[in-house]
Amino acid sequence: MAASSAIRTIISPGRYVQGKGALSRLGEFLAPLGKTPLLVSDDVVWGILGQRATDSLRAAQLPVTRERFGGIPTAAEVTRLVGVIERTGADVIVALGGGSAMDAVKAAGFLAGIRWVTVPSVASTDAPTSALSVIYTADGAFEEYRFFPKNPDLVLMDTQLVADAPAAFLAAGVGDALATWLEARATRQAHANTMAGGLPTLAGTALAELSWGVIWDNALPALDAVRDHQVTPAVEKLVEANTLLSGLGFESGGLAAAHAIHNGLTAAHQTHGLAHGQKVNIGSVTQLVLEGAPTQEIRDFIEFTTRVGLPNTLTEVGLSVDDEDDLRRVAEAATVPGETIHNMPFDITPDELVSALKSIERFSRTVRSEAHLPAPVQYVAHQVDTH
Ligand SMILES: [Zn+2]
Repeated sequence: MAASSAIRTIISPGRYVQGKGALSRLGEFLAPLGKTPLLVSDDVVWGILGQRATDSLRAAQLPVTRERFGGIPTAAEVTRLVGVIERTGADVIVALGGGSAMDAVKAAGFLAGIRWVTVPSVASTDAPTSALSVIYTADGAFEEYRFFPKNPDLVLMDTQLVADAPAAFLAAGVGDALATWLEARATRQAHANTMAGGLPTLAGTALAELSWGVIWDNALPALDAVRDHQVTPAVEKLVEANTLLSGLGFESGGLAAAHAIHNGLTAAHQTHGLAHGQKVNIGSVTQLVLEGAPTQEIRDFIEFTTRVGLPNTLTEVGLSVDDEDDLRRVAEAATVPGETIHNMPFDITPDELVSALKSIERFSRTVRSEAHLPAPVQYVAHQVDTH
């Protein structure tokens, strides 16, 4: 993909703010960005943080207007939010919630020509910092990436919200963030372009690698702390790795096979209802297999992600080695032209991908059994997909 006129580039949000109780300072950081903010969140998230967000905006003399988020970042939901922006005269749109709300809000803010801000309620994806959205169909299948000329003006991450939420969200964020280094490493090797629209800078690749190290050092104690709703230094580090380091690292370091396999998995209805980072982890294990990575490296990855609580077998994402047609559909979707799997330093055919996907079932079971870790539990889809 490299050309003689190739450029290197890194992009980032205007400001990243993180800390316990940071939500109480939302108004202060929002005031320089706009006078008529539009807050977007679903009812569950608004019930948790609506009062604190309202108090913070009032303290900064900002009006409080809130719109309910529909739940899935579809093209129709984005268009609807653009209409709300126009009707309310908002000059900055603020997503409060998870990756889905942020994807819809970023896309709507761009189309309406106003600023956009993300306030994650969980650290479950690296969506908050990026200048792109993932758009899904109404039933939760990957539809397209949309790219914007800039990142959010502000990303405000309250670590107490992360600690108050179920630890499963943080674990999913670890799955999304672990892929960052694997994919950035492959992108660098292939001299391929990143989501930021150029070759990776040393900085982008370094942030991806830093994210990886911070996660291996802090994820297990951080998850335990969050199970007791405590914010510890390990939690602060893990939240930054999941959100800022992985966010900049994936966007300006490059995506490769793991995220393409995630996108392919959304084509199988059996996986619907799983978190983005859970499906990405299947992509990471499969990417390591495709790379022919050293056995010890794959073993370590399977053991660690099992301890984190992430899936690394087909069983745990509702599939089996006998689902030939479904696995073929996943592999076809993951390898369509334009998918990031083509950033790998070698070609991957759908056949090779089906074999790699099937292979992780037995190998992960073996590694887990030898390490005295729990056997996989069958996943049964029960609801629509969330990013
Ligand atoms: Zn991701």
